[in-house]
Amino acid sequence: MAEKAKVAVLTDPRTFDYREVDIPEIDKDSGILRVEAAGLCGTDWEQYLGHLDNTPWSVRPIIPGHEILGWIDKVGPEAARRWGVKEGDRVTVEASIPCGQCFQCQVGRPVLCRNGMGYGLRMGYDSPPHLWGGYATHMYLHPQATLHKAPADVPTDIMSLFNPMSNAVRWAVERPETGIGDTVVIEGPGQRGLLAVVAAREAGAGKIIVTGTRQDSLRLSLARELGADETVVVEDDDPVARVSEATDGRLADIVVDVSAFSTEPITQAIEMVRPGGKVVVAGLKSSKPIPNFVSDKLITKEISMLGVLSSSWSSVEKAIDVIRRKADTLQKLCTHHYPVDDADTAVRVLGREIQDGPEAVHVHIEAAGTG
Ligand SMILES: [Zn+2]
Ligand SMILES: [Zn+2]
Repeated sequence: MAEKAKVAVLTDPRTFDYREVDIPEIDKDSGILRVEAAGLCGTDWEQYLGHLDNTPWSVRPIIPGHEILGWIDKVGPEAARRWGVKEGDRVTVEASIPCGQCFQCQVGRPVLCRNGMGYGLRMGYDSPPHLWGGYATHMYLHPQATLHKAPADVPTDIMSLFNPMSNAVRWAVERPETGIGDTVVIEGPGQRGLLAVVAAREAGAGKIIVTGTRQDSLRLSLARELGADETVVVEDDDPVARVSEATDGRLADIVVDVSAFSTEPITQAIEMVRPGGKVVVAGLKSSKPIPNFVSDKLITKEISMLGVLSSSWSSVEKAIDVIRRKADTLQKLCTHHYPVDDADTAVRVLGREIQDGPEAVHVHIEAAGTG
């Protein structure tokens, strides 16, 4: 009799069905991952609520979980050679399963692959062999999956930060080319904003300023512990004036907006960035237009606005390296974890709909703890 995987299937908005599924046989090109953890982000919450309906990520029923960490359980000989792994190796798995052939894959942005394959968001439960998401004890490794080796000795909760950390590396360092001495403003102290502080520090940033709301007071104090020089509560203080003061009027070299929903951080970013500076736009605004957006300022100040989605291969590798070296410092961000069969609680805690002990920063499904 085939071994079974335990999975959480999102069948309708706000509805999980916990099931057992046969673990498939593999061929020479594929593998099986024994899932260790799946990190959660705002996308998991939107997916749970059904807010991704009418986008390419509206698939249901689906096993969610796109920030995937685990051990190689079984691997075919060709796959082992291609990925450079063997059974028992610890790996992270990228959410997208690139086709390798389309225009976006060919120009080096497989995350934007037109082919539509991917874990946790794109491949539905009804496609055999069903195991296409991280809210599960096991996951199918497709021949075109992208893997990264992870160190064996970093605790599960800290290693499960690899995905938000890789976003932080790309958004706060790689894309704006942050360097020694740069003043970096990070708008929004969620897990990605907090990890952007760590990434910018690693890159040699001079001054780091983090903005947030009154509701974020705990997160802003975490930002200072992680290396931010100053934090600004936007209801109490004018962030543009504070950045001007902190830089003797020179303004910021780089502003990274990772705040969700609110559009003011975008207009403020244009004011607080120096002429010739860069604004990285990473926080989704629920498709709202931006009131008072004056595009002329991009011209007169020669501002570069950079939209960013997800990570890159190199940012994942760098993220794993930072996590390995900074594990102790990052522990404080890991506030909650739940087994696969309590995925519902995990998502609602992440969405701040319910509270369970301390304020949630990073939440993950700990598959390894699922009985
Ligand atoms: Zn995510
Ligand atoms: Zn492609």
